[in-house]
Amino acid sequence: MFVQACNAFSENTVLLPDGEGGVVVFDPGFSSAQEWEWFDALLDEHGLVPKAVWLTHAHLDHVMGCHGMHKRYGLRPRLHSLDRPTYEMAHWAAERYGVALDPLPECEDQDFVDGEQLELGQLNLTVRHTPGHAPGHVVFVDDRHARVIGGDVLFQGSIGRTDLPGGDPDQLAASIENALYSLPDHYTVVPGHGSATTIGVEKAGNPFVNAAGTGMLQRK
Ligand SMILES: [Zn+2]
Ligand SMILES: [Zn+2]
Repeated sequence: MFVQACNAFSENTVLLPDGEGGVVVFDPGFSSAQEWEWFDALLDEHGLVPKAVWLTHAHLDHVMGCHGMHKRYGLRPRLHSLDRPTYEMAHWAAERYGVALDPLPECEDQDFVDGEQLELGQLNLTVRHTPGHAPGHVVFVDDRHARVIGGDVLFQGSIGRTDLPGGDPDQLAASIENALYSLPDHYTVVPGHGSATTIGVEKAGNPFVNAAGTGMLQRK
């Protein structure tokens, strides 16, 4: 697995090799020549060919490389149907934040659904719908390697913001409790921003949502 913080929002673009020379690109945030050079060098060094673009959600910072992934490799992103409106809004968000966004390609026709098993090469991931930060947010659970591609749901010592369109604090807390804290403690969470963490560490000490129910988002 490779992680590169990209663009003005320090968004983690995650690359998961499929064990057969392919690589899945999660949330491509490449926005500059240097970031594409890093990607090219990594593909060269490890002999990898991009096979799929899978989105945890479609906020601006997670889709900035979608144009390039389509132009270079003919890959269209897959996402959850409830985040298609978020994808459509990315250009509006780019204007609002004053950053450049190349025209986005059409998404793949087949949207992710909760519980879906994704198989590609030797990868086997489970999709879990985790709304609250974005309505169609999903995480990808890799049981074989005890890790989760988590997007902007649960961060090291923090959680995703809920003040953007379609955000909902109660939903976010429920998503974390149901889809993430139900996983074994040793599972690593690779989030959309910042450092990786584990389910056990966040369950014990996350100040917003924790297993004891004393988090700031849980106190009513
Ligand atoms: Zn986001
Ligand atoms: Zn983000």
